[in-house]
Amino acid sequence: MSTLADSIEVATAPTTPAAPRLRPALVDGQRVWVECEEWCVVDHVAENERFLVDVTHAGAAVDLLVPRQNGRLQLLASARILASDSGSVEEREPMVAVDFQDVESLYLSPSEAVVAADRLVEFEARLRALARVATVV
Ligand SMILES: [Zn+2]
Repeated sequence: MSTLADSIEVATAPTTPAAPRLRPALVDGQRVWVECEEWCVVDHVAENERFLVDVTHAGAAVDLLVPRQNGRLQLLASARILASDSGSVEEREPMVAVDFQDVESLYLSPSEAVVAADRLVEFEARLRALARVATVV
């Protein structure tokens, strides 16, 4: 049975930050261990970086794709979380990078426009989710 003392203990438990996630990386041909965020999907061993500060962390891409008449999908924008191990403390904080494709005009049928609108809403929600994940607490 839970007592008042138990609930006070839970409520005042110190919030200790999670231990850093260490993952292997290849730097100048040497295998080293780097701190890597939970959201990072980069295989740091696959890329042989020259210096430790060249290690860059990236999350999975969130893409905005719209259907075209030829049945193919066209990429309009792509967003992901990035963080670098170089620079000042502020420069190392995660940021959300959004790349917009060079699309001059997009002529959509009404049905394509409806799908595009749905995907814009979904992209917006996922972009907000990336911002929440990238926010340093
Ligand atoms: Zn990483």
